[in-house]
Amino acid sequence: MKFFAVSRGDEASNRITEQFNQLAVQHGLTPDAEAPQVVVSIGGDGTMLSAFHLFAHRLADTCFVGIHTGRLGFYADWMPEELATLVDMIAMSPEQRNGRIVQYPLVEVEIAGRNGIENHLTLNEFTIKGVESTLVAELHVNDERFEMFRGDGICISTPSGSTAYNKSLGGALIHPSIESLQIAEIASINNRVYRTLGSSMVLPKHHHFDIYPQGGRNLLLTLDHLSQQRNDIVSIRASVSDTKVQFVRYRPFPFWSRVREAFIGQESH
Ligand code: NAP
Repeated sequence: MKFFAVSRGDEASNRITEQFNQLAVQHGLTPDAEAPQVVVSIGGDGTMLSAFHLFAHRLADTCFVGIHTGRLGFYADWMPEELATLVDMIAMSPEQRNGRIVQYPLVEVEIAGRNGIENHLTLNEFTIKGVESTLVAELHVNDERFEMFRGDGICISTPSGSTAYNKSLGGALIHPSIESLQIAEIASINNRVYRTLGSSMVLPKHHHFDIYPQGGRNLLLTLDHLSQQRNDIVSIRASVSDTKVQFVRYRPFPFWSRVREAFIGQESH
């Protein structure tokens, strides 16, 4: 089994990464930074986003596992004190470890600029925002004009990303077994002159959503933790990707339990 560990880069995460690497080699696992079968993210959910983008070109052959060096996260659900158990499990044969691969949907983003088209995958979300001014963009659902959006921006999230930025925008939490994408408004302008839907929308797998920014303004695009400013955007299409991300789950940790743990915690009564 070939593995690669990605650290958040802080002292605690680097120490745990070193321990993980030593234990893994002792258990007969082979470090491989080019073509690992298991990628272990050591840090937080943000570290998993980095690990995902490092290996986004070979998702079919890669499984991800997350060790959280703070509190439990959405993608990082192993604690550092469980390192030895995790290494034991990765080193076991699939039959021995009863390992289970869970697959989560991703959003595919096709960005058409004046000089060509690029395709990207996002694990949490894609956002588009105006830089110096309001974002003005015509929005289409399945090639039909839906509305003219005016506001700070638009967030398009995956189901597993629905607990991240999307939640702060008042979007719904979507179980990752539902192949869908969610569009949430970021501070839309609504008055007697300008009108947007005002609610977030959840689109199924066979639908697509297009954004046509108006006025050639400077735009800020983000894919998870990555961002870039662009002034050449003609259109952006978002759809649910045919590719999924794979996580190895060595024990059950249901999505709704994670939601409760992260957002509700221990109730006082
Ligand atoms: P960051 O600003 O350092 O951290 C953002 C926070 O989001 C961290 O606490 C991170 O958890 C958490 N997070 C990431 N993915 C999550 C998920 N799927 N569900 C629940 N929480 C999640 O940025 P970063 O670490 O580079 O992460 C980039 C992400 O930040 C973006 O994908 C976006 O979702 C999020 N973000 C949120 C807002 C907002 O809520 N207003 C604004 C901008 C960006 P860890 O501490 O475990 O890493």
